[in-house]
Amino acid sequence: MRVRNTFKSWSFFLAAVFAITGSSQVSPANLDCSQVIKDKVTGPPKPNVIDKNSNPVRTRTCFEVAVPEGVRLNASCSPRISNIHRLLETCPASDPALSVILADFEIRRNGNLVRTVSCTPPISKLPLSKYTDELILVQTLRVMYYMHRSTPGNLPWTKGTLYDWLKSKVRGFNINDQETSAASCCAEIGGKLFISVAPLKNDDFNRDLKRRWIGISGNVALYAHERRHLDGFAHVSCKGSDNMDQAYNETSLSPFGVQWWLYKNWLTEDLGVGFSCLSDSERQETADLFVNACEGYRTGRFCGTPPASVSKPSSWRPCLDPTKQ
Ligand SMILES: [Zn+2]
Repeated sequence: MRVRNTFKSWSFFLAAVFAITGSSQVSPANLDCSQVIKDKVTGPPKPNVIDKNSNPVRTRTCFEVAVPEGVRLNASCSPRISNIHRLLETCPASDPALSVILADFEIRRNGNLVRTVSCTPPISKLPLSKYTDELILVQTLRVMYYMHRSTPGNLPWTKGTLYDWLKSKVRGFNINDQETSAASCCAEIGGKLFISVAPLKNDDFNRDLKRRWIGISGNVALYAHERRHLDGFAHVSCKGSDNMDQAYNETSLSPFGVQWWLYKNWLTEDLGVGFSCLSDSERQETADLFVNACEGYRTGRFCGTPPASVSKPSSWRPCLDPTKQ
């Protein structure tokens, strides 16, 4: 049964959330329903990383588990992204996982705690000026929260989920107006580690792209790159750059290796986000970017053995979102 929400707009108040939640709080989406039935990153050298409404859905069999549109529950009542487009059209306040995300990660701007982020769905209709850096960051974290939550263990560098791996060492994100790269890792604030993120400023082209998977995916890969540095992976110098990795090794992926792996597996849907549910034109556009990103890392970020060359799949997996026909 789908629950209609009549709110026209939402603001979520981070301070209030912090006050009422603890870092170990579990979201409804995490319930076991079986009982109830300073390194700098700029991304690949070329191309430039370019880099709906939201009503919680409850199913009949997993009625205690609420998830936003674009996320469905598998047979074990575990959430998975079934339609990334629909998820990214929703606002954070409609997401039952928001309280957990905001308890796990502090969001700061120039070191100051961000207390309010406004959002009016659908995101595609939101004036670009209202699609703030803070909102983009929260949207990215929502995607990371749900990404392969139902299939932990399918990442080469961690036995857990992408989200849990991120939060195991990163306490927050600081949108830093002085940041000169897309992101850097990591700055210490109050004894906690923060990934520093550059604001988009007047980059309306990329701000617009980040309404969609084609843009948010770049943020996910970038944050994973930064997080990988905390596992002891530093960059090396070669080919006239000090922002390189030694070699692509899937048993010990480097930061750029992690990025390549994510793009490649999003492309092949081995790390599925409902990519097949995108319109044909958007799917092609996104796939082209993923292929180009992989090629950029392959040719421009490794001193030694690079990853393989990739190409667009000849066919796509079926869309698992029954509402998208
Ligand atoms: Zn790096």
